[in-house]
Amino acid sequence: MKPAPLVGRNGSETQTIVHIGNASVGGQDLFIVGGPCAVENAAQLAAIADHLGPSPSQPGQIQALRGGIYKPRTSPYDFQGVGSPGLDIIKRISQQSGLPFVTEVMAVAQIEALVDHADVLQVGSRNMQNFDLLRALGQVNRPVLLKRGLAATIEELIMAAEYIASHGNSNVILCERGIRSFDGYTRNVLDLGAVVALKQLTHLPVIVDPSHAAGRRELVASLSRAAIAAGADGLIIECHPSPDEAISDAQQTISLDAVAALVESLGPIAEAVGRRLATAKSAPAQRQLVAV
Ligand code: PEP
Ligand code: MN
Repeated sequence: MKPAPLVGRNGSETQTIVHIGNASVGGQDLFIVGGPCAVENAAQLAAIADHLGPSPSQPGQIQALRGGIYKPRTSPYDFQGVGSPGLDIIKRISQQSGLPFVTEVMAVAQIEALVDHADVLQVGSRNMQNFDLLRALGQVNRPVLLKRGLAATIEELIMAAEYIASHGNSNVILCERGIRSFDGYTRNVLDLGAVVALKQLTHLPVIVDPSHAAGRRELVASLSRAAIAAGADGLIIECHPSPDEAISDAQQTISLDAVAALVESLGPIAEAVGRRLATAKSAPAQRQLVAV
């Protein structure tokens, strides 16, 4: 392994806890993110926040919303995301619901606006080694969710995180989202060995994306449970009020009720591995984006 003085564990027991709005990732509480592959409109996000977000009396099943407004699509003819008009949508829903928002940054030029509108900037699998982007995100006052490249080694993922940290931002969350293999039945192969290894090799939080790993909605709940059993700090799950109507990644998108049932099923597993479901109730309405 190449040296990783900043993100590597290097013999220390310390664990980085990244604070995101009312929630945190890397501590005892699991951090569950839910939302559509692509942001479609405000009503779609509001329905998810209402169904799964915390209320003053209930903790809720998710601690953050996700959804891309800039989408990396294989075909240039597929929906590319709502683009910049989505910035105000995600900020408004986030403020109304009290749920922080995780969204993908595809280019350096998008960073400035995203910092004003979102809580966590996601680097997608296809950009994991976009070193200009990583360097620029090192100078940003927002946590970065760094997804593993679809053919990236564990060492390459750690070095990508080291790029961000070495440019000044140590709030990096790693995400295992499956790696490409020969079998097309699942979209990717969920590498749970990597989750265990990353927890041993770095002090950064590690979450799992069972949706892009599986590519099939009927696998998402079991892979989520396996991820938490393996020691993941959280999950990022694609869900939609009407999964079959999702504009992108419908086949791996689960319903809001399915998310609620799946999160409930994580309780005993979390307890068995010394973790717990997050218990925070909703933040006051009209939450402001807080710099980390
Ligand atoms: C996504 O999270 O919507 C996404 C495009 O994921 P990945 O970069 O892991 O393919
Ligand atoms: Mn997707």
